[in-house]
Amino acid sequence: MSGDWRVHVDATRCIGAGICAGIAPEHFALDDGLSHPLVERVAPDDVLLDAADSCPMEAVIVSEADSMRRIAPED
Ligand code: SF4
Repeated sequence: MSGDWRVHVDATRCIGAGICAGIAPEHFALDDGLSHPLVERVAPDDVLLDAADSCPMEAVIVSEADSMRRIAPED
């Protein structure tokens, strides 16, 4: 669907702190100490912005699915 967001976890940055899954358990799960999005393409959900802004490694990237324009974290 147009307007969707894309959720990505940069596995090279994630340290498995679990904050993203704590904030948004419906969007993230930890496996072997690394977070991954449960679904990569999702309807916009503000909790994803909180998760991206709260990750200490800035490993959670939220973008517009079609344009790939980055939404969070903010530069
Ligand atoms: S908050 Fe960041 S570092 Fe922690 S598990 Fe999530 S993606 Fe990894």
